[in-house]
Amino acid sequence: MASFDPREVAVRCAHFIGGRSRDARAELEVFRPSDGGFQSGLPCASADLVDEVVEGTWRAWKASDWASRPPRERARVMRRWADLVEADGAVLGPLEAVGSTRPLREVLAWDIPYVAEGIRFFAEFADKHGGEVAATATSHLGLQITEPYGVVGAIAPWNFPLSMAGWKIAPALAAGNAVVIKPSELTPFSILRLAELATLAGLPAGILSVVQGDGRVTGDALCRHPRIGKVTFTGSTGTGTAIMTACAESGPKPVTLELGGKSPQLVFADAPDLARTARSVAAAITGNAGQVCVSGSRLLVQRAALEPMLEGIRAAFVDLRPGPTWSAAATLSPIISQRQGQRIQDIVTRSQAAGAEILVGGALEEGLGGAYYQPTLITGVGADNPAVGEEIFGPVLTVQVFDDEAEALALADHPTYGLAAGVHTADLGRALRLTRALEAGTVWVNRYGRSHDWIIPTGGYKRSGIGKDLGRAAYEATLRSKSVLIDLEHS
Ligand code: NAD
Repeated sequence: MASFDPREVAVRCAHFIGGRSRDARAELEVFRPSDGGFQSGLPCASADLVDEVVEGTWRAWKASDWASRPPRERARVMRRWADLVEADGAVLGPLEAVGSTRPLREVLAWDIPYVAEGIRFFAEFADKHGGEVAATATSHLGLQITEPYGVVGAIAPWNFPLSMAGWKIAPALAAGNAVVIKPSELTPFSILRLAELATLAGLPAGILSVVQGDGRVTGDALCRHPRIGKVTFTGSTGTGTAIMTACAESGPKPVTLELGGKSPQLVFADAPDLARTARSVAAAITGNAGQVCVSGSRLLVQRAALEPMLEGIRAAFVDLRPGPTWSAAATLSPIISQRQGQRIQDIVTRSQAAGAEILVGGALEEGLGGAYYQPTLITGVGADNPAVGEEIFGPVLTVQVFDDEAEALALADHPTYGLAAGVHTADLGRALRLTRALEAGTVWVNRYGRSHDWIIPTGGYKRSGIGKDLGRAAYEATLRSKSVLIDLEHS
């Protein structure tokens, strides 16, 4: 299956409560990014409904043995869920692609297997994670044990709807928690199927709930609910701040925040293969049309490599074909909404007004229905240019030139963000010096972007986040720690 007809994809205007979809009155509208067409209405859970759902999820969790059953049996359910997800491309694929910026081809080859394998990865921790015996006097036994929080509140963004939901749900469930998740109101549909498959796999009914709605009403109510033990969020830095405030005002409650980025790609003249590096740099800003938290949106290039890099990037950019997520021929994704497309244009226009030169692109494509932004290359910018300072979340790459390592490091440093960075050099010593010196939660050397190594955690420095997704750290973050001291002389 390489393409589909968007009119034939049936979506439900529903929440997922008590182990099944619950249809509800539409209050919001959802449009397809690919052609701007109306897809469906969407309910918006009020604070009262969020209260009902969180209480119901907590009661279902208490009534079930999910947290107390042998961990290997919990893992078995998770693995069954992963198998169902992996086998569900025919339904899940179009459902994900129709309402998001993810091309069907990539959803089938990447997103779905990635989510399934991520679920399996976290399932493996269930019976392999233990506590500690503390160094107490021999008259006592001191234990440090871990326990689930209860109900974890999760809030997800729109850029990779299924994978981001998987990052949030899988570790929390594997560790024995229940989860109430609110997907983005722009991409709300595929997650209903993900939840349905979890129930089919044997997850106790009611311990995974989906509430639909916007951030201001539904998301805020979820964060503030007293039964929510912890909040895990992926989205923008501004929203992360609002969520942390809500969690402080209603708690305090612990938070994991995966936030925005403005990640640099540092290319030295001795990079192993400049043509390959140029393709890699271009892919790191055009993948999902730049709507990736770790997009390499700032190219920092050593003067001697400038021309070959610009040439290679330009060639890669002009090769891309914008088109709907359901077209097998398209190689450039739409922007999620017209509003976001205009926001990108606004930053590019302000960047130009501040003295930048647009080498390639710089405009929205016309006549395609959806918002498609041309891959754009901007030079003549300093740290104070809007295109360098602001997270654009589109296929827009700024270029700055450096002469030596110290200058590269100074340019790489961003006042707000520290999510990821890439270093391209054949000099291992330099690569190691820079991986230490760069203020970023992830540094890639001679590559850019995540691999399928779920064991490597991801998370930001500075205002790019608090805590980690993926890896052992993500599993541990869904557990709280209890200290136990037993008097052996009187036991
Ligand atoms: P967003 O912050 O606008 O929205 C994210 C989610 O938060 C949505 O579900 C939204 O409804 C909800 N929300 C909004 N206001 C809220 C509030 N006051 N209280 C509770 N919930 C609220 O982000 P987005 O536009 O959906 O996604 C793009 C952003 O996500 C970018 O900044 C990107 O860098 C970031 N992101 C980060 C990572 C990471 O791993 N660090 C991964 C993906 C995306």
